[in-house]
Amino acid sequence: MSADDGSIFTSWNPGELIKKNHGYGLKVTHRPLFIEALYQSLPDSAKARIKVKKHVFKVNVSDDGVVVECTDGTVERGSIVIGLDGVHSRVRQCMQAMEEGRAAPSISETPKSPYVTTYRMVFGSIPIPPTLPNNVNHECASGRVSTQLLTGNSLAWFGVYEALDKPTSERIKYTEKDKEEAIQRWGHLYTAPGMRVRDVFGLQDGNFGMINLEEGRVDKWYWNRIVLASDAIRKLEPHAGLGYNSGLADVVVLVNKLRRLLETTRSPDTKA
Ligand SMILES: Cc1cc2nc3c(=O)[nH]c(=O)nc-3n(C[C@H](O)[C@H](O)[C@H](O)COP(=O)(O)OP(=O)(O)OC[C@H]3O[C@@H](n4cnc5c(N)ncnc54)[C@H](O)[C@@H]3O)c2cc1C
Repeated sequence: MSADDGSIFTSWNPGELIKKNHGYGLKVTHRPLFIEALYQSLPDSAKARIKVKKHVFKVNVSDDGVVVECTDGTVERGSIVIGLDGVHSRVRQCMQAMEEGRAAPSISETPKSPYVTTYRMVFGSIPIPPTLPNNVNHECASGRVSTQLLTGNSLAWFGVYEALDKPTSERIKYTEKDKEEAIQRWGHLYTAPGMRVRDVFGLQDGNFGMINLEEGRVDKWYWNRIVLASDAIRKLEPHAGLGYNSGLADVVVLVNKLRRLLETTRSPDTKA
């Protein structure tokens, strides 16, 4: 549906199309619950190898292995580093520095991002508004701004995407004032049938954020015994919910290939 000013509104159940194309519908879920479910599905031997609150600051590579140094002084040894540390990937920074024969940037530095931000976003979760059905994605797109409200089974997620004055690769931290001003600016916009942005913000409990939406792709995904995946090499804006899913596909492909290699070679050399 479109309005006189050219705005386009859609409300659709993404699960129906995905089921038709892939045989299994879409599941909308709260990320911490999903991570918890994945973690609980692991055997104890795997759980024991997961170390949290570690901060990688250096990666060293030799002919037959890798050594990763953490800020708490601990060291991990292995045969490969898979860098899944997100948009500001420290593993990517270390890898690029080693490849170019220079020292890795200090951790207090904020190296320029390989991605470009054209849009920023105010987002958060709310209880599902009683007038809206579950599992429906509502979007409104207009010139340089768009809104999204996606309902799941027990929560809904909203976002207001607004274009920056000019694209940037700088890291920007937004303040409470920035968030409040964005809500004021766009409070009048449509977000779902019978709801405007200000109605949605009226339902949230203060737990919402404002972030830059970096986009782009890094050319070099691996070097020596280091390989990068997911947001460390590709960043998509969230409308289509493709970021995590693309990253998961990266890991599936990588792990399948590593598994096949390990079936024939117990300790593969770096080239393999
Ligand atoms: C508002 C929003 C909504 C989104 N919605 C969807 C969606 O509906 N569907 C979808 O598929 N995708 C969605 N995405 C995209 C999705 O969140 C990302 O693509 C996904 O989280 C990328 O996973 P990742 O593991 O590569 O990186 P991250 O999720 O960023 O994880 C990186 C991890 O590395 C850790 N880390 C970082 N630096 C270090 C270090 N030096 N040492 C140790 N650990 C470190 C971080 O703490 C973090 O745990 C959304 C993104 C945003 C911003």
